Formats: sequence, structure tokens, C-alpha cells
Amino acid sequence: MQISSHFPFRFALPTIIEFGSNSFDALGTRASALGNAPLVVTGKHSAHAMGLLERVLQQLPNARVFDAIGENPDTTICEQGAAFSREHNCDVIVAIGGGSPMDAAKAIAVLARNDGPCAHYFGADKYVNAPLPIIAVPTTAGTGSEVTPYSVLVDPVERTKRTIAGNALFPRVALLDPELTRSMPRNVTIATGLDALSQCMEGIVSKKSTPLGDALALDGIRRVCEFLPRAADDGENDIDARTQMLCAALASGIIVAQSGTTLVHGMGYAYTIECGIAHGLANALLLAPVFAHNARIAPARLASIASAMGGDPANPGTAVVQSLYNLLDRLEVSRCAHDHGVTEEQIEKFATEIAKDPYRFRNQIGDLTRDDVYRFYRQSLDGAL
Ligand code: NAP
Repeated sequence: MQISSHFPFRFALPTIIEFGSNSFDALGTRASALGNAPLVVTGKHSAHAMGLLERVLQQLPNARVFDAIGENPDTTICEQGAAFSREHNCDVIVAIGGGSPMDAAKAIAVLARNDGPCAHYFGADKYVNAPLPIIAVPTTAGTGSEVTPYSVLVDPVERTKRTIAGNALFPRVALLDPELTRSMPRNVTIATGLDALSQCMEGIVSKKSTPLGDALALDGIRRVCEFLPRAADDGENDIDARTQMLCAALASGIIVAQSGTTLVHGMGYAYTIECGIAHGLANALLLAPVFAHNARIAPARLASIASAMGGDPANPGTAVVQSLYNLLDRLEVSRCAHDHGVTEEQIEKFATEIAKDPYRFRNQIGDLTRDDVYRFYRQSLDGAL
């Protein structure tokens, strides 16, 4: 089935993508072509545990390492990373890890060349000097941050996520090596894989969807539905499932770089920041309510998603919701946000806050009120429409 596409459209992807086992071994050559003083930005645990840092230092013996990035990084840690970069005169950034280190690395790249705190650069193209060049090496399969121009950070003052965006934040090179994702534990595999699914689904219904993105998104949805359960069940051995999931995540990043995210992400940030739910899982808990709404506004687009998920396109809303619930059941993840620690009192507050912030609705189809947002949270809380 052909979806009617939005014309005209713009599609930018300046990142060079190297995908495949051992692509990580190209790091030294790629980094040397961009600078002489590399700064590695990574998380606290897995790059050490996997021996990845040793492999980096074999290829880049003079690299400095900033390994303090936790999950959902805030602006403060990025400002510290930028000070470290300036202190050591670093001139190329190597981001290794999930979306958290990759996003922190992008903010560090901006602040290393531009004065002031992160808050000065929220929005699009707010910096004056070009950020340091970035090479991104994902170790999760979900965000696609390796091919996006966004750094999504927690603003500790506003207690929400804000974005630094700009074309110069596209990593120059993305090295996608499925071997590096083998060590993800089951819960991280599931949460990150659901983020890829969410980004693909949201891309198709975004006001800024593109025909190229639609094709990639349907492909990404098919891959997640088929391979996420396998990656979750036996990801240490099933390299084929890991490869397919990394490819789906890449597709989801390419899409989100063009089409942005929709209300699902806007609402999910509250689950992550206030309730500690992993980013991708937070989105997944909101997909069914928001896509039941989307089905009424854009039935043809939902029909294509339903087909990609193996459901009946003749009843797109019902089919997509049922496919989502089936996937969560198969992954042994409760569809009720309540079971993940969200409370009734919290969703009242979340709905009121989201409704006041037009940015959260910028790509969302349909006119929505605070009551609609509350209803989506309520349905997510109960795991039923
Ligand atoms: P993450 O927060 O980067 O990582 C989740 C956990 O997995 C961390 O504890 C991490 O520990 C661990 N981990 C990472 N790779 C591992 C591996 N190979 N083996 C074992 N453990 C591993 O999770 P994420 O879902 O990838 O990223 C989420 C962040 O990305 C959020 O802040 C979200 O807002 C952002 N995001 C950005 C974009 C964008 O376009 N910029 C798009 C979507 C989401 P260590 O780091 O300590 O190893």
C-alpha cells in the first residue's frame, strides 16, 4: 500500500555510515583524519567492561577519556566534559556508548568551541563557532543518535529534556559494529529496541514525514517486530538479531533526524525524569493510546504501520494497538505504566505541564487538549484503551 507523501520535503544526512562487524577497527584512521587530539566521551561501565577503551587506546594512543556520562545526561556533566576538552586542547570527539554518551558528546563538542552553559544553545543552530567534529560508535540499538543532529539533555532547572540541535551536530562518521551491542542486558536490549520502534512509528505520522523516511520506517518496524524478541532472548549469541536491530535503530535515527518526534516522546520524558523509566520503554508505554488517536486522523498511514507489524490494515487502529500489546507480552513487559511505578497523581501533573508546552505538539497531528493528553496518560497507566 502506498502512503500519500508530503511534498516538498528536505532530507539531509551528511554522516558517513560504516556498518558491519569490525567497523570499529576503522576508528583510528577516521579520527586521525579529523584531528590530532581526540577526546573519548563514554559511559561509566560498559566501555570498560567490554574492553572497548583498551581497543580505542590501541588505535588512538594519545586519546583523553571522559567516562563520567550516566543515563539521561544533564547539562552539568556536559559542561564538565567541555571544560576537560578545553583543558586538554582536544580537537575531535569520539562518542562511544548508547544515546546518553552520544548526546553528551554532541553538547561537549558545542561547548568546547562556544562559551557559556548548555542553556545558551537550546534550540536550533544557536552556536556561533562550529562544534568539534564527532565520530559516533553506538553500543545500544535504539536511539540512532549516531545519525542525528540532536543532543537531548536533562535541564535540571526545568526538570525536563531540552535539545541542542544543528546540522553541524550530525556526527561526521558513524561506526556501527553489531558486535559491540552483544553485551547489552535483556532490559537494555528491550528498552532501546522499543525506542527504535517508537521513532519509526512516530516518523510516519509526523507532520514532517518524508517519502524516503516512510520507506525506511516501515522497514525498521518490520525488523523490530521480527528481531527484537530474538535479541532479547539470546542477544549474546544471536548476532543476526543484533545486526538487524542495529540496522533498525539506524533507520529510526535517519528518520528522526528529518521528521522529529511527536507527542509520544514529549509525554515519555516525564515518565523517565519523574519515574525513572528507561527512555525507550517510556515511549512504548504511550504508543498504543497516541496511535489509537493517530488512526482517526491518518488512517492510511496507520494501515501501512499495521501491515508492517503483521496486523490487518482494514482495521488500522485496532491492529496497531493489538500488535503493540502482543509485542510487549512477547517481551514479558507489562503494558501498564502503573506496574512501572507511575501513579494517578503524577499523570494529572504531567498532563497539565505538557499541555502548556507547544513544543511537545510541534510535529503531532490532530488538535489536542489537556484532556486528550490526560486520557492518553490514563490509558497508558491502565494498559487499556
Ligand atoms: P543509554 O542511557 O545510553 O544506556 C542505557 C544503559 O545501558 C546504561 O546503563 C549503559 O551503561 C548501558 N549500556 C550501553 N551499552 C551497553 C552495552 N553494549 N552493554 C552493556 N550495557 C550497555 O541508553 P539509550 O537508550 O541508548 O539512550 C537514551 C538516551 O538517548 C536518552 O537520554 C534519550 O533522550 C537520548 N536519545 C537521543 C536521540 C537523539 O537523536 N539524539 C534519540 C533518541 C534518544 P554505560 O553507558 O555506563 O555503559
